[in-house]
Amino acid sequence: MTTDIYLDGNATSAILPAALAAAVDAMAERYGNPSSSHGGGLRAKAVLDGVHRRAARVLGVGAGRLMFNSGATEGIQTAVLSALCALRERQARGEATGTLLLYGATEHKAVPESLAHWSRLLGLHLQLRAIPVDHDGRHDLAMLRGCAGQAALVCTMAANNETGAISDLAGIEAALRASGSAAYWLVDGVQALGKLDLNLAASRIDYAAFSGHKLYAPKGIGMLYVRADAPFTALIVGGGQQGALRSGTENMAGIAALGAVLEALERGGVFRGYAELNAARARLADSLRAALPGVVFNQTFATSLPTTLNFSVPGLSSRELMDVFDAARVRVSSGSACSAAKATPSYVLDAMGLAPWRSGGAIRMSFGPLIDDATIDEACLRIARCGAALRASCLIPSNRAPQQHDGVVQLGVDGACSWLLLDAASRSCIVIDPLPALTERIEAYVRCQNYRVSAILGSSPGSDRTTLVQALGRHIARDISGDADCDAFGWPAAGAGVTLADGGLVAGIEFGARVLARVRHDDARASYLLGAATGARLGDGADGAARLVAADVRFAFTGHAAQSGLAGVIGLDTLLCPARDPHNQFCTSLRAAPPADLAAAELELDADALDAFFLQHPGAQLIDVREPYEYAAAAAVGPGGRPARSVPLSRLTDQLDGWLRGERLPLVFFCRSGNRSIKAVQCLRRLGHGAAWHVAGGVALAPPARAA
Ligand code: PLP
Repeated sequence: MTTDIYLDGNATSAILPAALAAAVDAMAERYGNPSSSHGGGLRAKAVLDGVHRRAARVLGVGAGRLMFNSGATEGIQTAVLSALCALRERQARGEATGTLLLYGATEHKAVPESLAHWSRLLGLHLQLRAIPVDHDGRHDLAMLRGCAGQAALVCTMAANNETGAISDLAGIEAALRASGSAAYWLVDGVQALGKLDLNLAASRIDYAAFSGHKLYAPKGIGMLYVRADAPFTALIVGGGQQGALRSGTENMAGIAALGAVLEALERGGVFRGYAELNAARARLADSLRAALPGVVFNQTFATSLPTTLNFSVPGLSSRELMDVFDAARVRVSSGSACSAAKATPSYVLDAMGLAPWRSGGAIRMSFGPLIDDATIDEACLRIARCGAALRASCLIPSNRAPQQHDGVVQLGVDGACSWLLLDAASRSCIVIDPLPALTERIEAYVRCQNYRVSAILGSSPGSDRTTLVQALGRHIARDISGDADCDAFGWPAAGAGVTLADGGLVAGIEFGARVLARVRHDDARASYLLGAATGARLGDGADGAARLVAADVRFAFTGHAAQSGLAGVIGLDTLLCPARDPHNQFCTSLRAAPPADLAAAELELDADALDAFFLQHPGAQLIDVREPYEYAAAAAVGPGGRPARSVPLSRLTDQLDGWLRGERLPLVFFCRSGNRSIKAVQCLRRLGHGAAWHVAGGVALAPPARAA
C-alpha cells in the first residue's frame, strides 16, 4: 500500500521514460538554440524539424500548418483569435458573416472563456450559444444543423475530459456541410491524442489544439494545427520563430519529449490498443460494482474513451469518495469542483441531464494507454478495500454486523450540525437538532447499527422531527413516535426528575448508564445535559433523587449560545455543543480562550521533524482525524509509516472529554492536507490543552514510509 495508484490520466500523466531521456538529452547535449547557425544550433534544429515532421504525420496535417506552443489553452486562444480577426476583417469589408459563436455545452472552460474574451476585446460582441448534448454527452446535431448557417465559429471537443464521451466529429462535419455553413471549426483534440485516430487534413476541421502532458509528455508543450486555407493570426510575435507562427525560442526539452511520445505512437507496441484498454476499464468497473452497491456510471462505455470512468454512488458525496480513495492512495478526481462545505455540481454532467445527486457526487477515474495489468490488479484490490471501509462505517449498506459505535457524533451540513448520542450497551441513540438534509444519513446509520432511537430533540421548538421519525420506522422508540407523546422540543412525556447542581429540578431521561437532563431556558430555547447521575436511578423512588453535579456534566447541547443560562449547572470543562458550527470549532467550554489567541505556525510540526519529536516525547500520540472510512482504507498508518490512532473530526468532541480530564499527553494530529488537523489543534488549544500540534501538509507532504 505504499505506492500511488494514479488514476487521473485525464488531468495529466507521468512522463514516458523515453520522453524524459529525450528531454534530458535536449537540455544536456543538444542545448543549442535552433535559430543559431552554428553546429550546436543545427543539432537542436534537427530535433525540432524531426519532431515537427513526425507530429505532422501522426496528426495527418497534410498541407496544413502545425506549430508547437505551451499547450491547448494557448492553442485555443490562437485559433479563436485567428477566426475572430478574419471575421472582423470580413465585416470591415462589408461581407456578411455569421453572428453566432457555437460551442459544445461540455467543452473545457478554455473554449467559452476564450470566445467571450476575444469577441469582447476585438469589439465583435458576437453571441455565444451552447450546443446542447444528449444523455451520452454527444452534440445535438439537429440543433447544429439548424444554427450552423448563422454560425461564425463552431467549437467542439473530440472527447470530453470528465466523461470520455467521444464526439461524433463525422456527424458534426456532415451537419456543417449539409447546412452550407461558412463557419470556422475548432476541435479541442486534447483528450483524443493517442486514443483516437486523427487525420486532420482529410476533414473540414480548421483548427485543432493539443497538450503534451495528457499523453506522457511534460506540461508546457502543446501543438496547434491550422488548416491550409484557414485564416491565421499569431498570438505571440517577436523573433519570428516557427515561420512566425509562434515566436519565442522553442521549448526544446518539451518538443524533444513530445517527439519521443509521438515516436512511440507511430512505431506501435508501446501503448496498449483499444481492446486491451477497454478490458482494463471493464475490470475497474466490475470492482466498483462489487465494492460500491448501487454505483452508476455517468457515461456510455460504447461511446466513450476506454480510458475513462465517471461514476456516482447513491448516498455518498464526491468529497467522501475522493477522501476514501485518496486514503487508499488511489488518485482519482472529483467530477465536480468541491469545497469542504459544499460540492458544486459538474456542468458537464448537468448538461447531459443527469440527476443532481449524480452530477454533484461524481468521481472520475482515468488512465493512460501505458497502463499495465499489475496496476489494474492493485487498483481493484484497493477499490475493494475502500468499499469495505465505507461498509464498516455504515456509509453504504452492509450485511455484516458492524462494529458497535458508542459516544457523541457530530454530523454537519452547510455550517449547521446535528448530534447523535450513541450507547452501545443499550443499543440506543438520541438525535439532537436533526437537519432534514441528514435524514438519509442518520437513517442509514441507525439501520446499519441496528439501534433504537429513544429521543429526537431540538434546542428550539418545532424542529422537523416528522421526516426523521417516518424514515426511522421500526428503529424509533414507540413512546416518541407520535407528536402527542412529545412536547414541541421533541421531549418525551415520560421524562423523570433530575436535580441539578443549583438545586433545580428538571426533567431527565435515561441513556444507558447516563442521564440526559433538559434545561428549558424559555419557550424558544432548551439545552440538554449529558452526564452520569449520582443517587437513585431515574424514576426509582422520589423525584429528584437522581443528582447531576456540575463536574459530571460531560456535554451540553446548547443550540445557539444558550450557555449563559447554564453557568450554575455545568462544569468549566463541560463541552458545549452548538447547533451551528460554520467554522469547525466543534465545541467550546466555559473555560475556553477566544480563538484569536492562537497563531497557526506555532501549532505546526514539520513532517520531517516527527522522528525527533517522538524521541523527545515518547508518550506522545499520533492521531488521524480523517473519517473512519479513510482511516480504514489507509490501513491505520500515519506520516512516515507510524501507527496512528483514529479520532475522526466527527468524534473529536467525544474524545476531548477524556483528553481534557486525563493526563495531558502530547497529541499530534494529522489528516490528508493539514486543513482538518489544524482545526482539531485549534479546538484543543482553545479548550486549554497546551500540548497539541498537527503535521503541516498532512500525509500528502509527509516523506514516504521507510522500509522496515
Ligand atoms: N481541453 C481539454 C479537453 C482538457 O482536458 C484540457 C486540460 O485539462 C484543456 C483543454 C486545457 O489544456 P492545458 O491546461 O494543457 O492548456
